[in-house]
Amino acid sequence: MPELPEVESLAAFLRAHAVGHAIARADAASFSVLKTFDPPLDSLTGHVITEVGRHGKFLDISSDQGLHLIMHLARAGWLRWRDELPTAPPKPGKSPIAFRLRLDDGSGFDLTEAGTRKRLAVYLVRDPAEVPGVATLGPDPMAAEFTEQTLADLLAGRRTQVKGVLRDQHIIAGIGNAYSDEVLHAAKMSPFKIASSMTPADVATLYDAIKTTLAEAVERSAGLAAADLKSEKKSGLRVHGKAGQDCPVCGDTIKEVSFADSALQYCPTCQTGGKPLADRRLSRLLK
Ligand SMILES: [Zn+2]
Repeated sequence: MPELPEVESLAAFLRAHAVGHAIARADAASFSVLKTFDPPLDSLTGHVITEVGRHGKFLDISSDQGLHLIMHLARAGWLRWRDELPTAPPKPGKSPIAFRLRLDDGSGFDLTEAGTRKRLAVYLVRDPAEVPGVATLGPDPMAAEFTEQTLADLLAGRRTQVKGVLRDQHIIAGIGNAYSDEVLHAAKMSPFKIASSMTPADVATLYDAIKTTLAEAVERSAGLAAADLKSEKKSGLRVHGKAGQDCPVCGDTIKEVSFADSALQYCPTCQTGGKPLADRRLSRLLK
């Protein structure tokens, strides 16, 4: 899933390629992709793109006539830019193409979604706050206003595991399953650590890890074409998705805890004092 660094880079890519162009047409391949009906999608025709921004993991394309095309790529979605977009609108059905935006010079992009669980979402609104997922976002960790005190306030009193806090878009915007693993590895902190139990020193360490991990990921993907971002994300990660491989910091074997629909990865030596975390699913299998 694209998280803050990839969405930030997609926004930068679109800013460089699409701002100043008029929209020739916008097409959703299915009814389920478009989550709004007023204004209709065809009202975008002729609007000039003035800015491309980001709210958490949402992309926001602004038009000169006050509309915002907001896109959430969900777990298996991606944006594919083409200098020459096919002229026909995308066909509903088996194609992975969920949405197509064509610009006045024939360039544009497709939003694609792999797999059968379709979650990719597009909204056309007058105000980004009309999108429920945007309206309820927590503060953006890349923003200058996101200070160590901001993080301390967000963690205080939460008797939940830090991994869940980092991933919760209502608490902090933009960090998902992959970068929460990376942040916690950089902080040498157990994903199961209880947020409210953190000392000021823990908070300072976690804060530095959030800022550094995200900034490095944004820097690595800056200037890359949209097509190259996905592989860059994979190659840049140190623990996420790397169970069984060596920790790049200490050489211990990276371990995994599985949940119903996701898994987290961590390094026991770096993060949990060498002790493996309980994996309920795995221990049930072993009984
Ligand atoms: Zn390690």
